[in-house]
Amino acid sequence: MLTRAIILVVGPGFLIAGCYFLTVGRPSQTVQAAPVARSEHRDFDIDELHAGVEEGLVPADSANANVDHRSLTIACDERARELGRHLDDKDRIIVRPPFVIGGNLSEAELDRYYSETVLPTKRALDLTYFDNPPDEPLTLLLYSNERTYREASWKFDRRDTANYYGYYIRTDRRIVVNVGTGDGTLAHELTHALGHVDFPDMPEWFDEGLASLYEEADFSDDGLRLNGLSNWRLNHLLNAMQKRRLGTLESLISSREIREERQAVEYAHARYFCLYLQERGLLPFFYRKFRDRAGSDPSGLRTLCEILGTENLDPIDRNFRQWVIALYEQVRS
Ligand SMILES: [Zn+2]
Repeated sequence: MLTRAIILVVGPGFLIAGCYFLTVGRPSQTVQAAPVARSEHRDFDIDELHAGVEEGLVPADSANANVDHRSLTIACDERARELGRHLDDKDRIIVRPPFVIGGNLSEAELDRYYSETVLPTKRALDLTYFDNPPDEPLTLLLYSNERTYREASWKFDRRDTANYYGYYIRTDRRIVVNVGTGDGTLAHELTHALGHVDFPDMPEWFDEGLASLYEEADFSDDGLRLNGLSNWRLNHLLNAMQKRRLGTLESLISSREIREERQAVEYAHARYFCLYLQERGLLPFFYRKFRDRAGSDPSGLRTLCEILGTENLDPIDRNFRQWVIALYEQVRS
């Protein structure tokens, strides 16, 4: 232990001295030092090293990964066959593990939703938040218009979906969406579905805040990250603020469930608080820390206070509301 402590303390001093010696003290020696350095290495086979570059790119546990992937593909094929018995004759199904994607679209259109929306969204969310990939099929039912979507949601779930464009049935791992309204709802429900695999105990305030953040979002230039943008939910937030009806952040976060009669305001509240954390670069960090300690801090309140360096959320709440007003001034102009 003592030796280690001495090395840690003394090491950097040696390094600095060495650099100084090589680069400043005797500059001509920097080139001549090479033979000495070479003699410190064993002889390696350059051809073997090159050959190992490609082989080294195969994950060490690829054998297991293949087995898991195979069993997931088999489960997806089974899910597709089961789904085929319930869809209309004209509907189509494609299998893209872990997704089974069906609906009243052609196979080419379903594939386009997969490659242009589902896959890029999943890739960006996985990179930013999710460490546990789905090990069971996720079903996506995509409908091209209001009529077919409402018929399907009634047939499958006895739901009247007049007031929303999509939903996720957690027990079935199944999304039903009217994609005729754009990609936003699909991204919202996809965030729920993937989030529940990674963080099963995510409380509703954060679940809805994160999912609704991505219903309006841009990809970064390299396509690897998603950045949530302001959307129509800002009106609900501002309306509640103006009427002095917006609850505190602490009450939003502490309540186990979002009340149905307050849904529009509380979804907006949660969404814009996630956007606020995103703008400060804290959202992915909060997500992972929160997920990993949800057993002892189920609402996330303590983790949030710790990350933000505050005893309670009052100063953050004040700052958040000022930020919302500034955002409104910015998007209005
Ligand atoms: Zn939702």
